[in-house]
Order: sequence, then C-alpha cells, then structure tokens
Amino acid sequence: MKYALVTGGSRGLGRAICLKLSQMGIPVIINYQSNTAAAEEVCNEITNAGGQAALLRFDVSKPEEINAALDSWEQEHPDDYIAYLVNNAGIRRDNVMFMMPDEDWHRVLDITLNGFFYITRRLLPKMMMRKHGGRIVNMSSLSGLKGMAGQVNYSAAKAAIIGATKALAQEAAARSVTVNAVAPGFIETDMTKDLPMEELKNLVPAKRFGKAEEVAALVGFLCSDDAAYITGEVISINGGLY
Ligand code: NAP
Repeated sequence: MKYALVTGGSRGLGRAICLKLSQMGIPVIINYQSNTAAAEEVCNEITNAGGQAALLRFDVSKPEEINAALDSWEQEHPDDYIAYLVNNAGIRRDNVMFMMPDEDWHRVLDITLNGFFYITRRLLPKMMMRKHGGRIVNMSSLSGLKGMAGQVNYSAAKAAIIGATKALAQEAAARSVTVNAVAPGFIETDMTKDLPMEELKNLVPAKRFGKAEEVAALVGFLCSDDAAYITGEVISINGGLY
C-alpha cells in the first residue's frame, strides 16, 4: 500500500493536507514535534471519517530521530512504502538581520532546509525503485520568492527549498517521482495569528488571507495521478500578492 507522510501534520496547513490526502483515499502518517493533542485530533478526525491515519513523532531537524521513527515504521509495514511526501514542517523566527541571534538563523534553516534533506534522502530510494513512483511536495513561501524584510532567515530557507525542488525534480523524473514546491502568501494558521491581519489583507489583491484548505487542495492535486507530468514547478497560492 502507498502511504503519505506529512511533516508538521498536526496543525495549520499540514493538518488540512492530511485531511485532504485522506479524503483522496490515501493512508496518512501525521508527523509532528511536540503538540500530541493536536496531532491526535487530526488522527481521530481521519479515522472517524473512515480513513487511515497514524502518528509519527520526530523533529525534522534531527536525522537520528527521523531514521529511528522511519526504521520502525518500515519494520511494521514490510509491504508498504511512503509514496507521497509533503515537507511542510516550518517555523518563523522573525527579526531584522542585524539583530538576529545565531540560534534563530540556524533553527529556521535546520527545520525547513535540513529537514527537507534528511527526510527526502531517506525516503527517495524506495520511491524511485517502485514502479508507481512517488510525489514530493515542498512547502516554500512567497517570502522565498520575493524576500521579506524581517525574515532573512525564513526567506533564505524558503528560497533554498525552491532550488532544491528544481534540482531534485531533474534527478527523480525518470523514475516517475515528481518534485514540486508550493509558495503560499498569507494563510490563516497559528503561524500568522500574531500578524496584523486587518492591515495586511489590504495588501492582498483578493483582500483576504487564504485558507489552509485552499493550500491543501493544491497539494492534493500535485499528489494526484493527474499531476504526473508536472515536476520542478513552484506554484504560488497567494490571492494575487507578489
Ligand atoms: P503552524 O500552524 O505553525 O504549524 C507548524 C507545524 O509544523 C506544526 O504541525 C508543528 O508541529 C510542525 N513543526 C514545527 N517544527 C517542527 C519540527 N522541528 N519537527 C516536526 N514538526 C515541526 O504553521 P503553518 O502556517 O501551518 O505552516 C506550515 C508550512 O507552511 C510551514 O513550512 C510554513 O513556513 C509554510 N507557510 C505558511 C504560510 C502561512 O501564511 N501560514 C505561508 C507560507 C508558507 P507541533 O504541532 O508539534 O508544534
């Protein structure tokens, strides 16, 4: 059976993506770091609706945790593989650069960029060996496309993910594995709840923040059979804000 792994699947965009993939009939592995209650809620919502879901807790920036969790999952699922990987976990640690502590620079890069590297490298061989290939969707951001003041760390990490997406897409295409990035603008989640929404939404041509479900619909499409010939793309979802 083909499973999906969604990193940071306990809240926000990751939660909506888990629900969407499950509605598409895909069994979902919900990764999270610390919020067990939120992750269990997503898991229950999926199983109550007749879908299949399981929790897998690890910090995406820690390769030893990733490998231990995925080793034990693989031992329990000898005939299955993870065919859909959504590298979604991410954090913000905003500050103007001249005041940015080392810790905030490294933590943002560790989770977004190194996390992508550790998990994708671990899962790629099986995806590339299987006849049915795989789908990798990386969560970038408008901040990675245009750069945002106060987010030099976050913009750097999200821009790096775009370069990595385009390069990996070329390595994996011949094995029927597609690799794409999604670049959301302002979406209503915990990550944006401290932002002045009333002020910021006036900057958005659509005059509103996006919904997590709207991003999940795009990720669902990129994971579908219909998207088999789309790879190396960065798709913006931002209400017209560039
Ligand atoms: P969120 O509501 O803050 O949720 C973040 C998720 O990431 C949570 O599930 C959290 O798990 C998980 N996470 C954080 N650090 C982790 C780690 N080290 N290991 C494993 N999981 C970790 O964020 P969001 O708004 O849904 O954002 C999701 C992604 O979209 C991020 O990559 C973000 O940069 C990107 N994005 C968001 C927006 C937006 O406007 N919201 C715009 C552009 C891009 P716990 O529950 O355990 O803490």
